[in-house]
Amino acid sequence: MKSSVFPFLRLLFPRTCVVCGDVLVEGERFLCSGCLGGLPLNEGMDEEADEEMRGDLGIENLYWLFRYDRGSDYHRLVHAVKYRSNRELGVWAGRMLGERMGNADGIDRVIPVPLHPKRERERGFNQAFLIGTGIAEVLGVRLESDRLKRVVNTPSQTGLERERRAGNVADAFRLENVEGLEGCHVLLVDDVITSGATVRACMAELCKIRGIRVSVACLGKSGGI
Ligand SMILES: [Zn+2]
Repeated sequence: MKSSVFPFLRLLFPRTCVVCGDVLVEGERFLCSGCLGGLPLNEGMDEEADEEMRGDLGIENLYWLFRYDRGSDYHRLVHAVKYRSNRELGVWAGRMLGERMGNADGIDRVIPVPLHPKRERERGFNQAFLIGTGIAEVLGVRLESDRLKRVVNTPSQTGLERERRAGNVADAFRLENVEGLEGCHVLLVDDVITSGATVRACMAELCKIRGIRVSVACLGKSGGI
């Protein structure tokens, strides 16, 4: 039954590339082969800026999948996960990032940047959780979403300048349960990293755990830091 209905539905509602909108062909998933091939993957082109950011945030490693700017069509990939409820895409992209994290040995836990419960209820999911799910699967480590809570429902960061973003999100997070996290190497996961304000606010909490080491992973990195 399913097999005879499926192609028919595909004809009515063809799957399209989340970046360019072209209809996908057999064997393509989420992105057409042109957009997948052109994805500006992290090939170490930002090493110096990343190093600076690592030092600034006090984190061990910074992993990101691809580079995007506001004008780039690739921002639609993040947008599709976040606002168009493309949950499978979130996990798939997380897996892709996990597979590219060559030196990720030693990471014990994956902790997604939480949404405020009210925001998560409205959206139905937390995009960082989906991405973290894909990464944790590849690394073979536990994903823990009950450690860090968002206690302030901050307005959207989009459109705010750097200083306002930092003030907006500072004190937004609280650690709930640190049992067993002492001395762990935690991977904090978010969808995008721009100013680093969210990571900084999470770090303020995570650093309260004795002997903790933190690395960060995100899908998109904006060039305009
Ligand atoms: Zn495309």
